Amino acid sequence: MNQPLLNHPTIQKILDHYKTIWALNHLSHLASWDVETYMPEAGATGRGVALGKAQSLIQKLVLEPEFVNQAKSLQGIEELNDWEQGVVRVVNRMIDQYQKLPASFVEKWALTTNQAQVAWRNAKQTNNFTLFRPHLEKIVDLSIQRADYYGYTDSSYDALLDEFEEGSRTAQVELYFKTIRPFLTSLLQRITKSTQFISTHPLEQTPYLRNSLEKFNQEMLSFLGQDPRSLRLDISAHPFTQNISSQDVRITTWYHSHDFAASILATIHEFGHALYELHGSPELEYTPICGGASLGIHESQSRFWENFVGRSQAFIHRFYPQMQALGVDIHKSSEAEIYRYFNTVKPGLKRVEADEVTYHFHIMIRYELEKALITKQLKVADLPEAWNAKYKEYLGVEPKTFSEGVLQDIHWSMGAIGYFPTYSTGTVLSATWKKMLEKELGTIDSLIEANQIETIQTWLKDHIHQFGSTYTFNQLVEKETGTKFDAQPWMEYLESKYRLLYP
Ligand code: MG
Repeated sequence: MNQPLLNHPTIQKILDHYKTIWALNHLSHLASWDVETYMPEAGATGRGVALGKAQSLIQKLVLEPEFVNQAKSLQGIEELNDWEQGVVRVVNRMIDQYQKLPASFVEKWALTTNQAQVAWRNAKQTNNFTLFRPHLEKIVDLSIQRADYYGYTDSSYDALLDEFEEGSRTAQVELYFKTIRPFLTSLLQRITKSTQFISTHPLEQTPYLRNSLEKFNQEMLSFLGQDPRSLRLDISAHPFTQNISSQDVRITTWYHSHDFAASILATIHEFGHALYELHGSPELEYTPICGGASLGIHESQSRFWENFVGRSQAFIHRFYPQMQALGVDIHKSSEAEIYRYFNTVKPGLKRVEADEVTYHFHIMIRYELEKALITKQLKVADLPEAWNAKYKEYLGVEPKTFSEGVLQDIHWSMGAIGYFPTYSTGTVLSATWKKMLEKELGTIDSLIEANQIETIQTWLKDHIHQFGSTYTFNQLVEKETGTKFDAQPWMEYLESKYRLLYP
């Protein structure tokens, strides 16, 4: 019989105690999913109170002296296997974060970000930055305090980055963007000068039959190997994935009246997140390391399915008849046209609608601005102007309203400063997985053509999913690739794909 993954007696005690924390998280996740999908609006207040209470109960359980002592006693013990070390790392990080933030600060933070989200929604709806400004000012101040509580060596922004991607530092992120920026700038220049360049693809404006698209998404999920007993699809204002347990993951998608690719790509993106959660080793269930490792690794999975499967020629070919059936005006489009529609590159104002090439500029803009706010190089009052200037500089476009400019994302209103870079690094990492997988198994296109989706799934499971959060982003990348995180495979991928699309 195989040796169990988590065997050490003190680890066993930690896991016993953690199971209650897991249960509270489990119920909180279910309650949060309900907020975004089916909860009647008036339920918001009660749900907020319940989730807040559950959170403080979790904090109490994490800080129980015996649990803290057990976790500390295992730090630096070398005979633990990787999985056990993962538990020790994750639990101690949790303890450390809860210990460093005073309860009064946590409460203030929750209150401020709750109010800020309401203000942000109103401000966005009425195109009024002034409504959101005082809230964002408070959030920036509190984020600086948060960084001070956590502590850092070089920059307060480091402490915030680390919260979303363990081990991430400003200097590395800076270097990373410096590497990809000139590459993207010249690629985009070539694309916009190509005779194939168009500023809008007609299919973006073409209406579709909603019922048919809902059916399409279900059929696509079956093709991708969805097990409906453990993965369900619903509808929400913004697509997201919520893991409840390793056998119960919920994803959502959206439907607009036109632009059917937006719904298909959102569905397959969230499927990629879900698969990661569903594929953890069963022995990790109820432990602190079950579920995806980090935001960056997670995004490397969602982007993998979205870009390499959903935007591929083989996928469009496989689903061409079903796509034609999505509407009378879509019916006329050739397969080649639909492939081009799924891969149209154009500088625009909105991050969530961006293509594979321009997407990263949206992230760079947010990264530079939020870092400037945190390091006090920029005042919130000057943010809209700075935002517009960056859009002009990076993408040659300028928002006419606050809503399509500085107010477009929810992140800052939630206090998520330091989050954005993971969208870019995760996307870039996905190309490293692609390169490795294709070297072993042949191209993803050929696997789709041969109906070998399961082969792709198994590869991802073996190399990434099974570990849950045993490893950090950097640890997993180094373990699997033998080198440090590198943007080269992604640059090669974009270069060769878009040279063909935009000669
Ligand atoms: Mg995502």
